[in-house]
Amino acid sequence: MGAGVGGLAAAGALARAGWHVTLLERGDRLRGGGAALLIWPNGVAALRALDVSLDDIAFPMVTGGIRRPDGRWLIEAAPNGGAALAGSASAGAPANPFVVHSDDLHDALMAGLGDRIEIRTGMDVTTVRAAGAHRPGVGTGKHTFEADLIVAADGARSVIRRRLAPEAALTAAGYTAWRAVIPWFRVPRLPATLPAAGELLGTGQRFLYATLGARGTSASNTRGGIYWAATAPGAPRPEPATTQLALLRRWFADWQAPVAELLDGTEPQDLVQQAGEELRPMPRHFGFPVGSGGFVLLGDAAHVATPDLSQGACLAFEDAATLRSLLGDPSSVAPLGPALDAFTQTRRARVSRVAKASRRLGMVLQAQGRLTVRARDVALGRLPHTLLDRAAATAHHWTPPP
Ligand SMILES: Cc1cc2nc3c(=O)[nH]c(=O)nc-3n(C[C@H](O)[C@H](O)[C@H](O)COP(=O)(O)OP(=O)(O)OC[C@H]3O[C@@H](n4cnc5c(N)ncnc54)[C@H](O)[C@@H]3O)c2cc1C
Repeated sequence: MGAGVGGLAAAGALARAGWHVTLLERGDRLRGGGAALLIWPNGVAALRALDVSLDDIAFPMVTGGIRRPDGRWLIEAAPNGGAALAGSASAGAPANPFVVHSDDLHDALMAGLGDRIEIRTGMDVTTVRAAGAHRPGVGTGKHTFEADLIVAADGARSVIRRRLAPEAALTAAGYTAWRAVIPWFRVPRLPATLPAAGELLGTGQRFLYATLGARGTSASNTRGGIYWAATAPGAPRPEPATTQLALLRRWFADWQAPVAELLDGTEPQDLVQQAGEELRPMPRHFGFPVGSGGFVLLGDAAHVATPDLSQGACLAFEDAATLRSLLGDPSSVAPLGPALDAFTQTRRARVSRVAKASRRLGMVLQAQGRLTVRARDVALGRLPHTLLDRAAATAHHWTPPP
């Protein structure tokens, strides 16, 4: 249930393993999430295990170091594109991510659904039946659906999680993020010396950008351009996107290129605003045996880490690959209980580690206060690999189950 990246990945994987899958989505149609995503080595490995190809749609993010808002280097880009947040060029350091347009990723996941899945849009699930010997069920008020297994991939505000794991709480991380992809035809002229990707860190504010392909050379099946993501302290803004964009231009007015240029080239319809949030505490269980079947929480429905390590979608792909491996084909599992317990055991420890690493990195990257920021900048300059690579390595090292 839920046709975000996690639900699509799980639905396609289970259908290909022989399960009869019905996909319920409350939206009136299936669509991508907007902007772009970084897909780290663990996400790439999970997608590969799920037979979803990023060929021709994902671009390696060659990192361009970290600067202060005034342009001075905190961590200088190595000539070969190493260093910085996305991983250093040193031996054993985590590899760089790929950047992919959300609509291209959505299309790739849709292609992976095949033609054996029943897709029901406009189905806003509001009720959950998880008691007694009945098969698990969900309802919309008008329709009821029963299944051996209900996969709740209904996002950070999951109704199924609220019913089955009320102990979990969505907590504000204290900042808001804005993201956009500016298509190449609208990308402003930028200084030729700028690296293809980079990051600037200020006081509580952060700006990251990466190119999706090169101007004029994107494959016809990709949506090329420049992806950027910015964060600023505080709650999401209630104003319309035009006003949010005006605020961003004001907050980042003095920042070095390409910040002002990219904000100027952005149009309100490009903008995606999201709160920095975390599910803390996490649910005690991700799998819930009910009768001879059960429920499983997957992706943001099960675990939300702060976006500092940009790992949420990658973890959802790990979930989907793990679930498929534990369930096998429909004839091989009955009852489902042991597989659901194993899912909790395998996934909970893993995502807790990543969430902790992301939270800690966030405290560094979103630091506020003049003295704290000065100490942060000194530490980043001297110990970049310790502070950044360790957090990234926690997330990247993951091997798909057989
Ligand atoms: C600022 C920011 C940047 C990020 N950047 C990255 C990144 O670079 N890389 C990365 O890996 N991750 C990133 N993430 C995290 C990533 O976006 C999420 O983890 C991921 O989208 C979660 O996918 P999901 O399918 O679990 O949930 P969602 O994408 O939220 O999908 C849930 C789906 O369920 C549907 N739904 C909800 N409720 C119901 C209901 N009651 N009935 C029926 N359907 C329902 C929704 O309509 C939606 O389609 C970022 C997050 C943020 C906030």
